[in-house]
Amino acid sequence: MNRLHEVRMSGDRPFAPRVSAFTRPFWTGLADGQLRTTCCDACGVISFPPRNLCRACWARDVRWIDLSPSGRLYSFTRVHVVPGAFAADAPYAIGIVDIDRGPRLMCRMVGEVSADDLDSPVQMLVLRYDDGPLFGACVPGRGGVPAESGAVR
Ligand SMILES: [Zn+2]
Repeated sequence: MNRLHEVRMSGDRPFAPRVSAFTRPFWTGLADGQLRTTCCDACGVISFPPRNLCRACWARDVRWIDLSPSGRLYSFTRVHVVPGAFAADAPYAIGIVDIDRGPRLMCRMVGEVSADDLDSPVQMLVLRYDDGPLFGACVPGRGGVPAESGAVR
């Protein structure tokens, strides 16, 4: 299993997610260093965020799968005007990442990111807050994980 790199964050999550019986495998997986989501057994479509029915064929036969810890940066934006809960973190970057052999997702970018990084490899991260994990990504060598971590382990 390829565990995600961890980045220690200060304090509690600014807006803690609600954990339900269905989403618990996602959050326990993330706490253990694994990014997971659901895949349809009927048609093979991967959904992110996890869903209890297929977004393509509406089948209810979905299973949990582990996602790759790496991907490519499709796009990003830098957020300067934020809701109050995130004020202490602003400005920050939000990236759109194409997970290797997986879905496209949106997450916090840790470290430096610029337009030169578009279509560059990124590493997914566990952002370890005092009250639980969130996920994020970084461009290796730019403040999240060392450059040599850019290759899939
Ligand atoms: Zn399906």
